[in-house]
Amino acid sequence: KLSRRLQVVLEQIPQGSVVADIGSDHALLPVAAVGSGRVRSAIAGEVNPGPFEAARRGVAEAGLGKAIAVRHGDGLEVLEPGEVDCITIAGMGGALIASILDRGLNLGRLEGVKTLALQPNVGEDILRRWLLNHGWVLTAEHILEEDGKIYEILTAVREAAAAGITNEQLYQELRLSSGVVCDRELLLEMGPWLLQAPNEAFFAKWQGEIDKLEGILTSLSRSELESAEEKRGKIKAQIRRITEVLECLP
Ligand code: SAM
Repeated sequence: KLSRRLQVVLEQIPQGSVVADIGSDHALLPVAAVGSGRVRSAIAGEVNPGPFEAARRGVAEAGLGKAIAVRHGDGLEVLEPGEVDCITIAGMGGALIASILDRGLNLGRLEGVKTLALQPNVGEDILRRWLLNHGWVLTAEHILEEDGKIYEILTAVREAAAAGITNEQLYQELRLSSGVVCDRELLLEMGPWLLQAPNEAFFAKWQGEIDKLEGILTSLSRSELESAEEKRGKIKAQIRRITEVLECLP
């Protein structure tokens, strides 16, 4: 059975697509996508030999060798231009996912791709910024807690296909109650859709971030260095920014 995290990624794949899952490891996602009839065929990409073998085994054991091609290679290099219309990348850092997309774009491997379903473990802001800067529009964001970890899933389509949603609207400064402003920077960090419908996992994530920052403040307070004072100021300001916004949310 798929984890809830991968189940939500799966649900972002449009019915009937041809999907590529990059960094597929055991190929759980493509196996479930084809097995459930959601997609006709899939490609599982893996750069590391161990996970590549695991993906091959996973596909063979599911008896889906005809529908799922398992390919060995770095990022989107495993794809021919125009071959798939949806790409999923899950379980890596946001910076790594953004660099995979960036290289893929430069190699023409995003040609024909209509939907991206991405699950960064950290660095969500880096990924949102990459999407924003490259003409992709977020159509959905999900956040959930599973086994004590919090995961975000970002779904994006091309600007031209975003049916009335524009990046300009999504990242427009949000004026919250009592004059609190959520600026573009904070929208990139916290997520424009998540901020509109925050759930328990969202509040837990940001309380966790505040706790981390408080921890850094405590360790910095032991330092006599002048630069420590400056850092403390920045961290305090960041805590204030996040807290103010959280307090204004429903
Ligand atoms: N996608 C699965 C999931 O979410 O459960 C597996 C996540 S696993 C933590 C990350 C996988 O990405 C590893 O198997 C790793 O080998 C693979 N990976 C990392 N960098 C990659 C790249 N540049 N191209 C393809 N696969 C990559």
